[in-house]
Amino acid sequence: MDDCIFCQIVDGDIPARVVYEDEDVLAFLDANPIAPGHTLVIPKTHYETLGDVPAEHANRLFAAIHSLTPVVEDAVDADASNIGFNNGAAAGQEVPHVHGHIVPRFEDDGGNPIHAVAGSPPNLGDDELDALADDIAAAADEPRD
Ligand code: 5GP
Ligand code: ZN
Repeated sequence: MDDCIFCQIVDGDIPARVVYEDEDVLAFLDANPIAPGHTLVIPKTHYETLGDVPAEHANRLFAAIHSLTPVVEDAVDADASNIGFNNGAAAGQEVPHVHGHIVPRFEDDGGNPIHAVAGSPPNLGDDELDALADDIAAAADEPRD
């Protein structure tokens, strides 16, 4: 995608502080970090959201996040980290090339847990929760790609 910032980073047309690269995955420091070591992990192929990523590429993306997280934490002497995707514009995704955020966290850094991202929590009864769980479980059994 010619007009995608992250594709341009993959192609070397925009500089980035790359911290990891393999055949399918690139990881680089966020240009506007919300914590020291804030790292973005992307598939080199352009997909907009997680649902667009084929399983094989998703496996490699998540494997890289898994191996990089403790490395990033150690590099900045973090106490913990939040790992997250703004998955779609309504969830705050600004760059439409799927990317995982590794955000190092520190005792008393004044931040919030990932529960803080949503708007108004719904008030769901047991029947609604049961129905939701059934719907998701049934759909999860369906092959996606
Ligand atoms: P989003 O809201 O899409 O999940 O987050 C996009 C992230 O990409 C933001 O944290 C932003 O700081 C980062 N970002 C945007 N443009 C660039 C860039 O050109 N280089 C780097 N390294 N990060 C960028
Ligand atoms: Zn892209």
